[in-house]
Amino acid sequence: MSDPRAPLRLGVDRERCVGAGMCALTAPAVFDQDEEEGLVVLLSPAPAPEHRPAARMAAGLCPAEAITLTG
Ligand code: SF4
Repeated sequence: MSDPRAPLRLGVDRERCVGAGMCALTAPAVFDQDEEEGLVVLLSPAPAPEHRPAARMAAGLCPAEAITLTG
């Protein structure tokens, strides 16, 4: 398991996103989907520690590999 205290930076690629919504379901504090196309909206590029485990999980679950993690 990653240390939840470690800093985390997120990026999303809306060109890759297929609107599956796994990210918004898994980490609703960090990801949303836009109303028009259902594509990912990054709410929190540098999530607080309590949201980092869910954000990491969401990145792993994304079927389009549209979420990148750094830090
Ligand atoms: S899980 Fe991936 S493909 Fe689905 S909405 Fe989120 S970023 Fe897009």
